[in-house]
Amino acid sequence: MSAAPDRPRVFVVGAGPSGLTAAHRLRAAGYHPVLLDRRDRVGGQIHTHREAGYLMEEGATLLPSAYRPVLRIVEELGLQDALIPAGSRVGFARDGAIHELRSEALFRDAARSPLIGPAAKLALAPLGLVNARIAKHLNYEDLSSAAAWDRETPREFCARHLGMSGDAYDYVIDATVRGVLGVRSDTISVVELFFMINNILGTTLFAFRDGYSAYVAALAAGHEVRLGATVHELVEIADGVRMTYADADGEHVEEGAAALVTIRGDRIPDLLPGYFDDPSCAAFLRGLRYTKCVVMNTGVTTPPAGVRASVTNVPESIEPGVMGFTCEHNKAPGRAPAGKGLLCFLSMTEDAERLVAEDDDTVREWFLRGAERILPGVSDTVDYTRIARWDEVIVYSRPGLYRALGDFVRRRPRGTRIELGGIFWSSSNICTATSAGERAVRDLLPVLRAGTGASTLA
Ligand SMILES: Cc1cc2nc3c(=O)[nH]c(=O)nc-3n(C[C@H](O)[C@H](O)[C@H](O)COP(=O)(O)OP(=O)(O)OC[C@H]3O[C@@H](n4cnc5c(N)ncnc54)[C@H](O)[C@@H]3O)c2cc1C
Repeated sequence: MSAAPDRPRVFVVGAGPSGLTAAHRLRAAGYHPVLLDRRDRVGGQIHTHREAGYLMEEGATLLPSAYRPVLRIVEELGLQDALIPAGSRVGFARDGAIHELRSEALFRDAARSPLIGPAAKLALAPLGLVNARIAKHLNYEDLSSAAAWDRETPREFCARHLGMSGDAYDYVIDATVRGVLGVRSDTISVVELFFMINNILGTTLFAFRDGYSAYVAALAAGHEVRLGATVHELVEIADGVRMTYADADGEHVEEGAAALVTIRGDRIPDLLPGYFDDPSCAAFLRGLRYTKCVVMNTGVTTPPAGVRASVTNVPESIEPGVMGFTCEHNKAPGRAPAGKGLLCFLSMTEDAERLVAEDDDTVREWFLRGAERILPGVSDTVDYTRIARWDEVIVYSRPGLYRALGDFVRRRPRGTRIELGGIFWSSSNICTATSAGERAVRDLLPVLRAGTGASTLA
């Protein structure tokens, strides 16, 4: 189906998974989405790059089976055959070895693995009981559903309620939080720990055979997309919205029937002057912090011996700056030339704060120093590197964030012609972005259908 200019136009700001999902749903509902993105490509934090025989993910890399809304869209797009199992083994680095646990049986396998000793294994056991109580509250569309648990960091929770510290905490809990989110587990909300245990690690992992960009390319197909277009302002007018944006040709002002915004939350209040009647809503959004990440895809002449995991978490004691690495050649076929391997190292957010501004040589040296501590000898096998810098990745949570989200959800504007997608509605990932895009369209449709402006603003 291609763009239909005679239908009412709905502006979608941001062509990442949230905006693309919204556009997909809007078109199906009979509207003409117009996607605008300040970048020169669609996909947001999803970007696959091919070079020198390597197929590299520079951003998002995995699709857990818990991402049901995403899998539904994969099916609608007819992409089921493009999705392949990504080898659901998760590695945990310790003492020169990579211990492998199954993603969908992480704690059961930890209890059998030599990764931690008998006392540490016993310390992990109560986590399963707590997890069973919180699991039903973990929601992609609105994680304020778990607000009652949102009072501590994972470190505080493990120490106070489970009496857990030492190896179980350092090599399983903290290593997992670092490896999935790129942040330390003494800073974020404990709700995020349970969210990842259930909704990411508790499930089977998939990848796209030709890279994640195949998914966003299929989602974007046939839509009107304006690239290099930065939206500066959106306001509601009688029966519609007025948008101001700038591209290479200068500044433009256009009117449409409605708009949907999927950019980072802390920039939303400036984009939407006059939108929030309740100042606490704008204050919540302005207070959101986002992490950064620097990524180095590293082609190696020989895949590291004995490492079968697709993704490996790195504990702080081995290398504080690297959150983990993926073995792309274990994840999917065709990621590296025959006989070679492809490793993708990712930095923790605190290190990325500095690294995003450094040149490639400095970043490469920094990653290779860290890689040596994790996989001794690996730097001698490197034959290719490519660096990607991400200025904004996930919402950097804190205890209390999801309780504050609950207030925002209750007080936010309703029945307006501007709706909000993005990742701040739950623990940040592609499924949260997708669910937010779908929810925003669901909220917008009754307003559009009731309004009179649709036909005049086509
Ligand atoms: C290295 C890395 C690895 C990741 N791995 C995974 C993973 O394995 N699994 C997973 O689920 N998630 C992963 N993520 C996170 C995931 O990619 C994001 O959560 C998801 O892309 C968020 O989608 P979004 O559409 O809300 O935002 P984005 O993808 O950030 O898209 C927002 C878009 O809005 C555009 N924009 C911003 N401001 C404006 C403006 N004023 N005007 C016009 N356009 C604007 C931006 O250019 C961007 O393209 C990873 C991210 C990174 C960086």
